[in-house]
Amino acid sequence: MVWNNPTGFSSEFLANHHPILLQETFNRIKAFLLYPPTCACTSLCHCQEKREQVILSLNTDLYNSIEETREHLDLYALRLFLKIPEDSVFRKCHGDAYPLWLIHEGFMKKHKAQHFKSVDQLVWTLLKLGHANSSPIFGLQTSLRRAIEELLGPLPLKKKREESLKTEQICGEKAYIGRFHTYKSVCHFIIAYRILKEELGHETWTEDFFFLQKPEHIERFLQISYALREDFLSLRTNNAKEKFLFSEDLLLPLPSWINDESIEALSNPLEEAAQVG
Ligand SMILES: [Zn+2]
Repeated sequence: MVWNNPTGFSSEFLANHHPILLQETFNRIKAFLLYPPTCACTSLCHCQEKREQVILSLNTDLYNSIEETREHLDLYALRLFLKIPEDSVFRKCHGDAYPLWLIHEGFMKKHKAQHFKSVDQLVWTLLKLGHANSSPIFGLQTSLRRAIEELLGPLPLKKKREESLKTEQICGEKAYIGRFHTYKSVCHFIIAYRILKEELGHETWTEDFFFLQKPEHIERFLQISYALREDFLSLRTNNAKEKFLFSEDLLLPLPSWINDESIEALSNPLEEAAQVG
């Protein structure tokens, strides 16, 4: 299950605890960014298990911070809501716990290798190409090969990269494509995070670990992710086998409470994609 689907909690409880639900949702997204579902594990894959451990660690940290500061909340209900086990279970499973510093380190490694930045560059280019080649009949036409050419210059790369290229070259063709396949299911979250930071006037892709604390920022992040996902699903390729670049079941959906009605007009960041410059 992707999202915490709390059953047995009243709508009043959920409305009162909406900031916590937002933070919990963001914690899950962090786990998916650390261990994407479309991983490249060749033998036994433990990614699902790792994701659950990451979510438990982040949610326990969230619970601890709430316990310290907001005593008036129903802590027992919150514990159930965040799926925090009894202390005795923690003691028994102590050796299997996923420490917070390791989550921090995982994001740091990805940051240093510019994983998120390169995925942002490539997917944003794909989206821009789609908007530049849109037609009522064929929809938004894009191409992975053309996007790579936009970033690296004409392929095959026999000659040195031309100086006139607009974008900063982060990695080679193979790495761009490899990262695209690894982060394909979560790339709307990666781009939404960058767009949100731009909206907030913050520098993008600096040393950070997908850190959002304010509920209104997480809400906005989820809304942008939702709008991007809708756009990504309409990207078509000229590949005869796979007509669409992303499929419904591949691109992680947003929780059901983020939907068309809950999002405000999001034209600004997406309009930018339409202007190929
Ligand atoms: Zn795996």
